[in-house]
Amino acid sequence: MGVIGMTSFARRAERVQPSAIREFLALAGQPGITSFAGGYPDPTLFPMRELHGIYDALLTDGNASALQYTASEGLPELRALVAARLSADGMPCTADDVLITQGGQQGLDLTAKLFVDAGDVIVTERPTFLGALIAFNPCEPDYRSVPMDDEGMDTDALEQVLRTTDRVKLIYTVPDYQNPTGRTMSLARRRRLVELAQEFDVVVLEDTPYRELRYEGERLPTIKSLDTTGRVVHLGSFSKILAPGLRLGWALATPEIREKLALLKLAADTQNGTLNMRAAAAYLGGYDIEGHIAGMLPTYRHQRDLMLASLQEHFPPGITWTRANGGLFTWVTFPAGLDMAAFQRDVLIPQAGVIVVPGTPFFADRPEANHARMSFSGVPDERLVDGVRRMGRLLSQALT
Ligand code: PMP
Repeated sequence: MGVIGMTSFARRAERVQPSAIREFLALAGQPGITSFAGGYPDPTLFPMRELHGIYDALLTDGNASALQYTASEGLPELRALVAARLSADGMPCTADDVLITQGGQQGLDLTAKLFVDAGDVIVTERPTFLGALIAFNPCEPDYRSVPMDDEGMDTDALEQVLRTTDRVKLIYTVPDYQNPTGRTMSLARRRRLVELAQEFDVVVLEDTPYRELRYEGERLPTIKSLDTTGRVVHLGSFSKILAPGLRLGWALATPEIREKLALLKLAADTQNGTLNMRAAAAYLGGYDIEGHIAGMLPTYRHQRDLMLASLQEHFPPGITWTRANGGLFTWVTFPAGLDMAAFQRDVLIPQAGVIVVPGTPFFADRPEANHARMSFSGVPDERLVDGVRRMGRLLSQALT
């Protein structure tokens, strides 16, 4: 029947498995379903009119360069504009230091390919971004996850892991408004992380797609900006500040690392689409992206506040959740016996039409079943409140 025998696959294919999430994400768009699962940015906030004008202008006769190949590292104008924004964020750099990537996701893939051999160890936060695990898995790493609290990754626990584990190659962190917890790493922990990375000679992969979605609290320095030895690979993305469909992100790293990442990118996909890079450069050059970001924040802040207030009002005692100062997520912890995946499948979807992301796949090791990630982005107010209320009622029944 044309099915390839399993023996034909490379060993890494064993680590390429469909995620359980896909099944129920297919439900998310259906009428009558309230989804807190997606974590998509709110599409009403995309700068549609401006991008329409930009693409129109790019695709006029005589402007064929917008459809031509360009450098693997990315369109020079866009690299320069990204470098200017990173410099303003405390990471002085030039266009040459920046690699444009296919979203932040490609930065995760390329960095793992560059540093991780089978059996090497990647340290993650506990829990961590599921998509990073999907990107890292084909490199066949072992994982050690480090507990978090409201100050982010526990650096004492990290030190313990580094002291007792051989072959640690990467420490992966989402320091700002982490996916899935919404937590932010404190300044003291950022400094300690850099010290530990130096002491144990490990590369830090800093992933910051939510950094600019800040609803309260001060802006903390990036880990990259605290590093003096060039061991931090800093990733960012236009997905949450412009639009994810453009598939535009960036990596900032020392020349040696960046050149190798660019060669791996050449192997993977040659370059990002020239048209989208030209469009993003035109947007950054011709419009006020800082104003655009500032204009989005009240919407997300309101949605976050409404989610937190609704959880407080409708969830029964014994359930806790994080309070994110930015980003798109809250992380909910249920009593230890509740298996959220089973509860969602058997109760939440059939009886309430509500979807969340059960927490298990966010653990790099030793998964826990009694958590869920809930996104507050893009759910209309009434649906949000109603969905949390219905979920709360079913949880009250299940937990009594
Ligand atoms: N890192 C984290 C922590 C994310 O949450 C996401 C997207 N949800 C990404 C990276 C990748 O996003 P993109 O490729 O769209 O930039």
